[in-house]
Amino acid sequence: MSKRRFLAAWLALIVLTSGAAAQDADIVLVNGKIVTVDDRFSIAQAMAIRGQRIVAVGTDGNVEKMKGPNTRIMDLAGRTVIPGLIDNHAHWIRAAEHDELRFDGVTSRAQALKLLADRVQTTPAGHWIVVLGGWSEEQFIDDARGFPRDELDRIAPNHPVVLQAIYDHSYLNSAAQTALKIDSATPDPPGGKIEKDAAGQPTGVVRGAGGVAFVAARIPLFDADAWLANTRKLVTYLNSLGVTAWLDAGGRGMGAKHYEPYRLLAERGELNVRVFWTSIRQPATPAQADVVIKEIAEQKPFQGNDYFDQVGWGESVYGPVTTQLLRTTSNTRPEDMAQYRRIAEALAAQGLYVNSHVEMEAAIDAFLDQHEAVNRVRPIKGLRWTFSHVDQVTDAQLERMKKLGMGAQVHSRPLIQGALMHKVHGEKAWDMPPFRRIQDSGIHWGLGSDATAVTTSNPFYTLSLAVTGEMVGGRKVNRQTISREEALIAHTRSNAWFLFQEGNIGSLTIGRYADLLVLDRDYLTVAEREIKEIRPLITMVGGKVVYEAPPR
Ligand SMILES: [Zn+2]
Repeated sequence: MSKRRFLAAWLALIVLTSGAAAQDADIVLVNGKIVTVDDRFSIAQAMAIRGQRIVAVGTDGNVEKMKGPNTRIMDLAGRTVIPGLIDNHAHWIRAAEHDELRFDGVTSRAQALKLLADRVQTTPAGHWIVVLGGWSEEQFIDDARGFPRDELDRIAPNHPVVLQAIYDHSYLNSAAQTALKIDSATPDPPGGKIEKDAAGQPTGVVRGAGGVAFVAARIPLFDADAWLANTRKLVTYLNSLGVTAWLDAGGRGMGAKHYEPYRLLAERGELNVRVFWTSIRQPATPAQADVVIKEIAEQKPFQGNDYFDQVGWGESVYGPVTTQLLRTTSNTRPEDMAQYRRIAEALAAQGLYVNSHVEMEAAIDAFLDQHEAVNRVRPIKGLRWTFSHVDQVTDAQLERMKKLGMGAQVHSRPLIQGALMHKVHGEKAWDMPPFRRIQDSGIHWGLGSDATAVTTSNPFYTLSLAVTGEMVGGRKVNRQTISREEALIAHTRSNAWFLFQEGNIGSLTIGRYADLLVLDRDYLTVAEREIKEIRPLITMVGGKVVYEAPPR
């Protein structure tokens, strides 16, 4: 920051803090490098919190005036603080279905096997051990291979094990094959393939998106109590990675039982993260669309609170319309897009926010045609409609989106799938997604993960990809990189808008919730390659410490 800009920011902070010093603060953070991510990207030394919200930001001298006899002082010892990270597209509500083992950011196959062996030690025999996506063989630097059944059997002879890679294929041990009743007579599921050897016996590998769904749907679910415990555990894990809020895009088989634990925790004031979600329905025929259109007319979002609330609809609108990252063609037949438009018109009539999953250039045009047609009948500007993923979006498409008041949610899928994307899309993959082009277009946009099946849940990996263009294992796959400041804004302040929470979260400014991270190193100055290694020492949500790193 230039000297003049710094001075301007500093003067503004004095003005803002001077009015609020009448009452004592509950917590005062001093002696730090507080990256506020306000409109000027100001850096402050100190911050005061009263209740759940920030009441002062400025210099040590200024903020210390708010100390009272009961104020807790947190000496940051020069450490960097950033706003809590907000993910604009994750499937974490569903993730509480299972107590998953995760290979998030694990760059060695040997380490993955060790994690599995450790989990076997702490899990009663017969209980399932599952990894449901978020990793790929290409992330292992030592040995970029999957997991043969005999190797899994040696490590876990008495536990059913399923290791699912990037929503594409699953490795099963013998116990899992037996439990899932997969044998030589089992037919391939729709859209999937049960791999068999020369003798016709299943090998332990089930392939294809249909195969992933076939396996995942047969893993038993927990009862309500265990589910609640899982949800708490998952939220703590996310807090440890720096996540303080997200927009949940729903997913396969989602129902009331998935939302219940979060609703319950929010009601008790025990939900240590902010979860905003969109209703997902996947009508597959015009008659099913009729039913959904009736349901839309009854929708009343925004009936919750600042911890748990429905904000709208998505990411799937009409089932037969599909686009996929690892395919060059999309299913956007005119008769299906006509059904998409009917549903979109009903959503616009109800004044609902919509997030639509769409990746490829031709598909984005097909979706935009419908949105423009809807807008002529029922204006959508102001509803913040968004496209998710937009891996191939062009300048012309970004302009059309801007005219409709739309936003772009952009995700870190190349972290895991980058090598595969290059195989499928060739040279084009270097610009997928086009972070730089989207940033320069001036459209409202933000960063997210699409976790858990598709990517790692760690937001510092997403920031790392946007800044370095590198996969989890370090391979460069994207040339549309942006600055670390741009990436941080896209993962905080910009994302608050998609959650309809821009007045509450996204920057460390007076009046907003104290959702913040004290980092173990400085995001703004560490080597680019180290961004993905950054971990929070403390995570705070609404002025409450929800995570503290164990001492090293
Ligand atoms: Zn999606």
